[in-house]
Amino acid sequence: MGTVTITFTSSVLSPHARGVELGKRFGDEVAATVASYRRLFETVALGPFDVDLWSDRAWTSIQRVAPQNAEEIAGIAEGAGLSAEQVASVNARTEIVVAANPTGRTECSTVVSLPPGRTPVAVQTWDWYDAMSDGWLCWVIPHPDGRVVRTVTEFGMLAKIGVNDRGVGVMLNMLHHRDNAAAVATGEVGHPVHLISRSVLDDAASTSQAVEIASGARTSAATALTFVDDRGDAVSVELFPNGPGLVRATDRLLVRTNHFVSDEGRDGCLASTIGVSTELRRDHLLDAFAGHRPTSAEEVVAAMTHHLPDGGVCRHPFTGTDPVLWHRTLATVAIDVRARALHVRPDGPCGHRMLTVEQPA
Ligand SMILES: [Zn+2]
Repeated sequence: MGTVTITFTSSVLSPHARGVELGKRFGDEVAATVASYRRLFETVALGPFDVDLWSDRAWTSIQRVAPQNAEEIAGIAEGAGLSAEQVASVNARTEIVVAANPTGRTECSTVVSLPPGRTPVAVQTWDWYDAMSDGWLCWVIPHPDGRVVRTVTEFGMLAKIGVNDRGVGVMLNMLHHRDNAAAVATGEVGHPVHLISRSVLDDAASTSQAVEIASGARTSAATALTFVDDRGDAVSVELFPNGPGLVRATDRLLVRTNHFVSDEGRDGCLASTIGVSTELRRDHLLDAFAGHRPTSAEEVVAAMTHHLPDGGVCRHPFTGTDPVLWHRTLATVAIDVRARALHVRPDGPCGHRMLTVEQPA
């Protein structure tokens, strides 16, 4: 089973008008996404949590750090009949989730393989809350000067996983770093990581330009952005308050889950306080490709069809828990940087939404 993948191509080119068009076309979906996040923030919070206050902070931050993104978000809000703060809360959902609970979930596995003389292979599982299963689309964004951005993203959010017409792909993995707790305590919402992804997709023509854009942003939620380009380069940038740390492919393979791998980030990594899944997933994928680097997305998806009680690469919800907190692989995305294309399928690598997996004791 699984949802149908919606694809939408914007027909207007300025940020505000583009936002209005999307907001009008998907007003119900954007409103549902805003409501789902409000429920999620309140459910994961460790104590009383003021969603409106954090939404205000997110909107203030976005206007300051990314004014062009703010215009587009204001347009989406206008088109959908919502406030800019509500749409800002979706764009800063990672930052707000971390503010509500600094050691929430880990999510997502990413593989990049760089076979000599062939198209780079880049695949990511997007693991997130089951409640958001119908909350995403493929969005094609043409710019006035001919640049084109393709992204798999949530309704109202300006970008997530994507590729641009210059052959640069972006993937995301959430991280957790002790220094984020200090940033959150000050009430700060940093540059939302999803908007950094959009900036890279809008402006980068190579992985090195992508690294430059990402490294200049001041974040409040630790994240790894992994970049791959059509010249066969790949690099993962681990963003955290005193970062970044850079991770490059080893023998043409880069595997990334939810713990810091760079020397700069490793000491402050909080992943082990959340669980062992991130280590198990990365070890499994490294083992799977130890003797042979994958040359196709299909090979990576086959290796990602991996289930374990403690959290394999292909994730399914533990149904004994509160459905608001059900967590699984919502989509599997392959990026073809030469064709500038995204190949997206709903659900995890195994193609199922539900699977009976025993919850670990
Ligand atoms: Zn599965």
